[in-house]
Amino acid sequence: MTTPLVSFEFFPPKTEAMEETLWASIEKLAPLNPQFVSVTYGAGGSTRERTHSIVRRIVNETNLKAAAHLTCVAASKAEVDEVVREYWDAGVRHIVALRGDMPEGPGTPYKSHPDGYANGAELTAGIKAIAPFEVSVSAYPECHPDSSNWDADIDQLAAKVDAGADRAITQFFFDNELFDAYRERVAKRGIDIPLVPGIIPVHSFKQVKRFADMCGASVPDKLAARFEGLETDEEQRRLVAAAVAAEQVADLEKRGVDRFHFYTMNRAELVYALCRLIGLKPTTEVAAAA
Ligand code: FAD
Repeated sequence: MTTPLVSFEFFPPKTEAMEETLWASIEKLAPLNPQFVSVTYGAGGSTRERTHSIVRRIVNETNLKAAAHLTCVAASKAEVDEVVREYWDAGVRHIVALRGDMPEGPGTPYKSHPDGYANGAELTAGIKAIAPFEVSVSAYPECHPDSSNWDADIDQLAAKVDAGADRAITQFFFDNELFDAYRERVAKRGIDIPLVPGIIPVHSFKQVKRFADMCGASVPDKLAARFEGLETDEEQRRLVAAAVAAEQVADLEKRGVDRFHFYTMNRAELVYALCRLIGLKPTTEVAAAA
């Protein structure tokens, strides 16, 4: 059995203490040799500077391949293109290209900037026209809430692939049947770029439920029941979270999945354990064992 490919997603922290946690997590996860690590772009481009500085630091101070998330919200094509060029000049070779949401949050009808890129597909084409970046895009196993139907949703993914997308990373989900059904739809459409499931460990059920409600992902009753009453019992919550994520990842492996994108929430412990479960070993240990 080949070892799966993994990637880790981080977000730009707001405080110095959170920044320390982020770098400690990157340091802990780096020896697992991820295919890449990505850094999100705050809603409406609100973390532009912080995203840049973290991505740049990853490029300059680690051996990791950094991917910068980028959205087209509230920015002209010229402004977005400038950011893209800055990334290329800084040695970044991978962008996660997204439309994004209005600053008021998901659910507010999307209005593109009059001189801006309209969506992920246009942004992907724009990035590829600037330099030969690797481009990852989003995918939605439960259909994007703005899509009028499944055909429109898969059309959008197909447009991103036509624009040059190299890989699609999914919104998080908890029911693997949904991922399987989605894979089938995507394959039927003849889309053959890698479709990487996004896995979110449930560090806080309340927080994950809030994210899920915002982005239209479903939370099975079974999952809610597993965390019910554990709000004040951190130790038990962590054990349940580890078991839940391990169960999901192991089941996906059984379904033939061989790459995973982990939404780390800037925390290493649980994601590290999940990687060990699927066979990844830190390179230092591999070297020591050889
Ligand atoms: P697109 O794929 O461009 O479009 C999404 C949907 O919008 C389409 O399915 C379609 O319904 C509709 N649509 C788009 N264009 C058209 C059109 N021309 N005509 C009709 N309908 C259209 N958000 C952030 O702010 N920062 C991040 O860093 C970030 N990272 C993410 C990473 C991943 C892996 C994922 C899955 C999502 C991420 N998001 C992020 C959230 C994302 O910005 C939202 O889900 C947003 O609502 C859609 O962006 P998109 O790139 O998926 O949109």
